[in-house]
Amino acid sequence: MPKGADMTYTGPGVMPGFEDRLPHARDGAALQMQLDAFLGAHEEGLIGFRRDLHMHPELGFAEYRTTGRIVERLEAAGLKPVVLPKGTGVICDIGPSDGPTVALRADIDALPLLDEKPDVPYRSTVEGVCHACGHDVHTTVMLGAGLFLAGQAEAGLLPGRVRLIFQPAEETPGGALDVIAAGGLAGVDRIFAVHCDPRVEVGGLGLRVGPITAACDKVFVKVTGPGGHTARPHLTADLVYALAKIVTELPAALSRRVDPRSSLSLVWGRIAAGSVANAIPDDGIAEGTVRCLDDEAWHRAPDMMKSLLQSVASAYDVEASLEYVRGVAPTINDATSVQMFRDAAGQVLGEDAVVPTPQSLGGDDFGWYLESVPGAYARLGVRPPGAGDYDIHQGDFDVDERCIAFGVRIMAATALTALWEGRRPTGDEAVDAALI
Ligand SMILES: [Zn+2]
Ligand SMILES: [Zn+2]
Repeated sequence: MPKGADMTYTGPGVMPGFEDRLPHARDGAALQMQLDAFLGAHEEGLIGFRRDLHMHPELGFAEYRTTGRIVERLEAAGLKPVVLPKGTGVICDIGPSDGPTVALRADIDALPLLDEKPDVPYRSTVEGVCHACGHDVHTTVMLGAGLFLAGQAEAGLLPGRVRLIFQPAEETPGGALDVIAAGGLAGVDRIFAVHCDPRVEVGGLGLRVGPITAACDKVFVKVTGPGGHTARPHLTADLVYALAKIVTELPAALSRRVDPRSSLSLVWGRIAAGSVANAIPDDGIAEGTVRCLDDEAWHRAPDMMKSLLQSVASAYDVEASLEYVRGVAPTINDATSVQMFRDAAGQVLGEDAVVPTPQSLGGDDFGWYLESVPGAYARLGVRPPGAGDYDIHQGDFDVDERCIAFGVRIMAATALTALWEGRRPTGDEAVDAALI
């Protein structure tokens, strides 16, 4: 049984005796006290919530139970969650709409993997489905941060609106686009997310300005020609030779047409043509992925590939067509938003908590949000101290559950930082600013 079934939020989470500090919630010490009080009352319940999700993982666009659990907790706190049109995923606004709006995003889906963890009480109960990417943690962290911020709003301390985006189907990319299509980014000034990272020890936060995850698209090339006898390639079009040229020339030419710093790479995963040694076939295919860290190069990639493909194909007199399927946009962190994460971490995690994090060629559909709204994506430390190397998307992936409280602290503090910094000065503040 998961621990702490009751985690209904009951108040603004302010330590008795600190009420007089309420109007100064920008003060890091006051915020820290409020978070301590909130987590003192709710950390165990949040861990129980994560374990419950972990035991009942659901794949992308099938997260009905998960959605129900989220809605239940938000409604119990007096909030008004809205379920997305396809029936999974939730959007919930907190606080007044007359200030800036900051969105927080958590993905809620699991992976089609076998849970291979040794005997833990919260192992997956669904055969072949597992929260091996930590989305159960993301969901719990955002729920906790949302409940804390709801308390702040109730106490009149939220200088704007926070939108919680519980996004479905990150692993089967499309969930972010559904959120955007449903108006999830309307009115949003800035957006933040954290993702579990077993390379960072629990209590740490990995930050990076610029690209942090890559775009990942799929390409399908089809080549056709008249076909014929291998004795007479000059009387037909040598389709296999042409396909081989396409497969080797395209990655090479692309690497010379874009800035190497964009890390654009085309790698083939499948190639097929022909059925017998002495006949030139009349069609063939090549399939692969394109990964890229730069937004501009990523936008140019389909046209560039199309023209390179045509030029190689025409040299060998074959017809070639390209189907270019967008996967996810690169996640490119805005410097101001990263600074907000950094400032918040300094307040609630400690000055040493922030660590640099490398670029990854893995993808996350959070990049779609950053195509239209500035924001940042951070790595949440989940590795138990002293643990060896391990990774997400593995059947034995697990976290040091103290990461949940750290995650709540950083998400809540970052939202508050962004709201305060995004707020236009009014009245006395504007006068004060002018005097300075
Ligand atoms: Zn994943
Ligand atoms: Zn993930």
